[in-house]
Amino acid sequence: ARKGKTPEEVVKKYLQKVKSSPEEDCTICMEPLGGPSGYKGPGVGPVSRAESVGRLTQCGHQYHFQCLVAMYNNGNKDGSLQCPTCKTIYGVKTGNQPAGKMEYHVIPHSIPGHPDCKTIRIIYNIPPGIQGPEHPNPGKPFTARGFPRHCYLPDSEKGRKVLRLLLVAWDRRLIFSVGTSSTTGESDTVIWNEVHHKTEFGSNLTGHGFPDPGHLDNVLEELRAQGIEEDDGLM
Ligand code: NAD
Ligand code: ZN
Ligand code: ZN
Repeated sequence: ARKGKTPEEVVKKYLQKVKSSPEEDCTICMEPLGGPSGYKGPGVGPVSRAESVGRLTQCGHQYHFQCLVAMYNNGNKDGSLQCPTCKTIYGVKTGNQPAGKMEYHVIPHSIPGHPDCKTIRIIYNIPPGIQGPEHPNPGKPFTARGFPRHCYLPDSEKGRKVLRLLLVAWDRRLIFSVGTSSTTGESDTVIWNEVHHKTEFGSNLTGHGFPDPGHLDNVLEELRAQGIEEDDGLM
């Protein structure tokens, strides 16, 4: 018995049929939607005219079916798909964060800009290891610098909401990734993914400290872009 769905089946689940061929170009391959997909990769077979173009069910953006399958195959094949135009997420997006630990506790001090509450300290610890098939260079080691990394949130209502969503992001492997550090230039190393964290507590020497009045709202927006928000059945 086969485990899971094929890439074609995953992509089809998020598509509606398109009746007449639209005039526009496919923004994945830049070829007209009325013609064949410009994607010529391994394992791409001919598709019938009727299913050569698909419309994503929620956002309505249209692409060659084969282009969407190719895009899915280039990702980490977790059963989710993200519209390359508007970033709408279909299914549950996950990342390639390596194995490790996330812990948190409240410390009895206030962050600059949040004088009326205590502080949540999050501690991330990821050891170095060997890259898996979901990483840039499978089989090659990756380094993990500066761990444990300590991060801070105000222990306010909004800060605790951010914490709850960060715990979901951790479970979905979206807090860290493996790649090239923009700070150090080192490749094959553990790096922050697209959700900003404050790693300085009392000072702000790196720019990753407090005060920063927009920080919590920015993080909520960055989490939403990863498909994580509080009304998706998590409350
Ligand atoms: P990166 O430099 O590739 O940057 C990815 C994202 O993380 C960017 O959005 C960036 O703004 C943000 N970021 C960069 N430095 C940050 C910091 N100090 N605190 C919070 N966010 C930060 O990602 P990276 O290589 O994972 O981050 C670099 C940081 O990692 C260093 O500043 C340091 O804290 C830690 N580090 C430590 C060592 C060490 O040997 N102690 C080595 C490398 C990295
Ligand atoms: Zn295309
Ligand atoms: Zn879209």
